Amino acid sequence: MVMETGWLEPETAADARVKIERENHKLEKRLCRQVGQAIVDYNMIEEGDKVMVCVSGGKDSYAMLDILLKLQARAPVHFELIAVNLDQKQPGFPEHVLPQYLAQLGVPFHIENQDTYSIVKRLVPEGKTLCSLCSRLRRGILYRVADELGASKIALGHHRDDILQTFFLNMFFGGKLKGMPPKLVSDDGRHIVIRPMAQVAEKDLVRWAAHRQFPIIPCTLCGSQTNLQRKQVSRMLQDWEKLHPGRIESMFTALQNVVPSHLMDGTRHDFKGLKVTGVASADGDKGFDAEEFAAPATLPALQVLRFGD
Ligand code: SF4
Repeated sequence: MVMETGWLEPETAADARVKIERENHKLEKRLCRQVGQAIVDYNMIEEGDKVMVCVSGGKDSYAMLDILLKLQARAPVHFELIAVNLDQKQPGFPEHVLPQYLAQLGVPFHIENQDTYSIVKRLVPEGKTLCSLCSRLRRGILYRVADELGASKIALGHHRDDILQTFFLNMFFGGKLKGMPPKLVSDDGRHIVIRPMAQVAEKDLVRWAAHRQFPIIPCTLCGSQTNLQRKQVSRMLQDWEKLHPGRIESMFTALQNVVPSHLMDGTRHDFKGLKVTGVASADGDKGFDAEEFAAPATLPALQVLRFGD
């Protein structure tokens, strides 16, 4: 605010509080909108569903439960939520934290106690990463629990950045154009797994977790190295975003806008059987798509036009 003297009036503590509240309110609306949109776009939750919300004690799954509870209160369809935590008996796991938090929230919950930590420690040779076996065991247990609880859907807290990282990991190390689906049939063929936060940016979840003061349980208790390749890809994406703001958003949009006829997978597009139609198509390929791109200021136009490379 400009004072009569022409000096800027220092922001009062009350002004700062109002500003923070406004920002948090905007963030809450955005999170609800994005989660609601994903639920609708992929038909994730239907009338009468019992959704098992997997809560690990990390910021993402706390946020997922929080937002699903808000949406449940105003959704046009009736569905149940049950929070499930798998206590894997890692040394130092604060086993009172989640039950206390969930009880105080008033949400039905179940804590599944299974000592997978000892199993992976026993079976995985010293120095090797524990995560792959640990995740396989966890997945099997969660499917069993979903059966026992009569859950029709299993909700996982992966977000937009997890999905993009997985896409690049699969491309770099697996030779596959494959991400992480927002909705899938589980590998045992018996469950529908959903990722309601598929459209949510991780930075928003960091802010939401701080605002809501979730009692975060660190994920390093098992002592395993977290996935180094995923960390590297995450850093690469963040660096790109810094250099070219909006790039993450654009890549994420691309995942929802696939053109198999312009890739090279013969099982997705019948390249061999292509025949001329003799009919001009307004949507047809012009051969040169340069006009679809606005050359970024940092790129010389020539770079965009070199199709023969
Ligand atoms: S970090 Fe630890 S708890 Fe998490 S998947 Fe890896 S081994 Fe399991």
